[in-house]
Amino acid sequence: MPLNYLNADLHCHSTFSDGTLTPVQLAERAKGKGTDLWALTDHDEIAGLAQAQAAAHSQGLQFLTGVEISVSFASTTVHIVGLGFDAHHPVLQQGLHGLRNQRGPRAKAMAAQLEAVGIANAYEGALRYVGNPDLISRTHFARFLVESGVCKDTYEVFRHYLVEGKPGYVPQRWASLKEAVQWIRESQGVAVIAHPARYNLSPNEEHALFSSFKDYGGQAVEVVTGSHAPHEYAVYAAVAKSFGLAASRGSDFHSPQESRVDFGALPADPSGLKPVWDLLTDRILYAP
Ligand code: AMP
Ligand code: MN
Ligand code: MN
Ligand code: MN
Repeated sequence: MPLNYLNADLHCHSTFSDGTLTPVQLAERAKGKGTDLWALTDHDEIAGLAQAQAAAHSQGLQFLTGVEISVSFASTTVHIVGLGFDAHHPVLQQGLHGLRNQRGPRAKAMAAQLEAVGIANAYEGALRYVGNPDLISRTHFARFLVESGVCKDTYEVFRHYLVEGKPGYVPQRWASLKEAVQWIRESQGVAVIAHPARYNLSPNEEHALFSSFKDYGGQAVEVVTGSHAPHEYAVYAAVAKSFGLAASRGSDFHSPQESRVDFGALPADPSGLKPVWDLLTDRILYAP
């Protein structure tokens, strides 16, 4: 079968960041739902990739290394996915280590803000959901706020807490766009703009994001993703073509309970796009 017809899922999260399934459970689920090519893309963390790679091998899945890097751009946070890099490369490892180091102090500052509005022990509460002590995220706080009855679900949490202007929001200086793309390129990977429709950027800022990303050596953008509404696929298919970027795709799966889109459930890409794995044929493990 030509590579174009791969059922690819190149964006999801395990217990090494803010997902609730282990890499082994994700590989089993991906295989069971018909995935051919899989990448695990934990936030700012690649420690789950060894388990993921072994599980992909035993499930008969084609595999790419992956990561989702937190980037500060134009007063917001954007996510840059890296695919197919050498996970042992020190530049990438050190860059991600620096980002993870910000998360402990940030979490304590988030908890202090929640305490000030009457929500006690949020740090300890969030920690109960954390699978990797280096990677405490807003998702873990969101799970605690649901469990403790403050909000009915995580969507409500991200309307009333943990976002700009609401209790529990602590602004961060994550990586710059240039740094994130450079770490990925130096480690022989392909950089991808994750779920571009999710950012509250002005048209000028969005143009600056795409053109700077290209200038720094970025090569792809997510078009069909569980983090986009279906009407956004065509919008970003056109953006991909106008900037000469390849298309990546993935569920952004975090949890059977929380995720709207499961493995294997996304439609095919709009026609005329270059699939990102065409840039990565020599990086795919376990290709038949
Ligand atoms: P952090 O990297 O700690 O800022 O956490 C970011 C994570 O929070 C994202 O990857 C999502 O998993 C989750 N998140 C952020 N905003 C929302 C939202 N509006 N709805 C649901 N989950 C969200
Ligand atoms: Mn997440
Ligand atoms: Mn993301
Ligand atoms: Mn994600």
